[in-house]
Amino acid sequence: MPDRILRAMDRPAIDHRGPEFKQLSEECFDGLRSIFGTRCPVLVFPSAGHGAWEAALVNTCSPGDVLLMAETGAFSAMWKAMAEAFGLVVEYLPGDWRHGADPDAIYDRLAKDRDHTIKAVAIVHNETSTGITTRLPEVREAIDRANHPALFLVDTISSLASMDFRMDDWRVDVAIGGSQKGLMLPPGLSFNGISKKALRSAQASQLPSRYWDWNAIMPDGETPGFLSTPAINMFFGLHEALTMLKEEGLDNVFERHARLAGAVRQAIVHWGQEGCMELLSEDPREQSNSVTAVLMADKYNADDLRASCMQHTNVALAAGLNRFSGKVFRIGHLGDLNEPMILGTLSAIEMTLKMTGVDYRPGGTTAAIDFLAERFN
Ligand code: PLP
Repeated sequence: MPDRILRAMDRPAIDHRGPEFKQLSEECFDGLRSIFGTRCPVLVFPSAGHGAWEAALVNTCSPGDVLLMAETGAFSAMWKAMAEAFGLVVEYLPGDWRHGADPDAIYDRLAKDRDHTIKAVAIVHNETSTGITTRLPEVREAIDRANHPALFLVDTISSLASMDFRMDDWRVDVAIGGSQKGLMLPPGLSFNGISKKALRSAQASQLPSRYWDWNAIMPDGETPGFLSTPAINMFFGLHEALTMLKEEGLDNVFERHARLAGAVRQAIVHWGQEGCMELLSEDPREQSNSVTAVLMADKYNADDLRASCMQHTNVALAAGLNRFSGKVFRIGHLGDLNEPMILGTLSAIEMTLKMTGVDYRPGGTTAAIDFLAERFN
């Protein structure tokens, strides 16, 4: 979290019904629209990302509705479990956690659904547990090719403001976001970008909801507002985050993430030449620019490496989740991040590989330096 954001939040709350907050929140709603690539309203909930998942489901669906989801990793599994808890029927296209959602499989299933029983296609854009990004434009194209009217629900929690995401161009009906990743804020805010088609579904939805109820929060269907007390100090931070993103320019933000992610991948591939590790993502078109997951060879325990890295360098590597527990470690590279930070992280990992006796090819950090230097020549 950048200092600028922390300092913006470090002030007394103001009257959330007064003119100052009205202006602040309206500027935030506008800024969010440009981050989401939409002219549609983006609502802000005081919640973790789970809340925005829930809001997307309870506003658009009714018990017994069928959702088409793709098994991309731990987060698609959690969203599926939530849908099932609400009495929705999930058709879960199987995946191996090493690839994104398969547009062809989505096309095949939708093309067979002649009665249009599938209410929505729900996809995690960037699967944080695997470092794999689904090719969303191709999923959109698959839905169109099948001529299917399903709603398109997309979790952008670890892609928003780090990688290209275009709600309107890709005709996403509900875009789900969270504050704690590319927006560089603490956890605590979540977002729903809502298309007109999704709003129409909300009129008919039969799932009970109040806290998340789009119609209660935005009675005119156009102007984002609040049902409950807004998280005022988070809005101070959000405003600053949106200002910072605007100053840098969203395209430059995406380019910076692509560059730094490329450097991380160079290092992993270099170290892994002796067979100790490999990128979890098997398709170069899907390698995430916000997080890289690294699969260690069977003889190594990724959690031991993570613990040693933390103990000796104070660098926190994220754990492998579910089936990859102990086998994968993850490097987060999104938000407030630059070359020295990423090179420091890679150096810390390379030092830990040496200390823990992993059979790696020395020089991954240098490979990352070479990659970055080339980008500036
Ligand atoms: N979706 C994705 C892709 C995530 O990475 C996360 C959290 O990391 C979530 C959903 C859930 O968000 P939260 O933990 O804020 O509820």
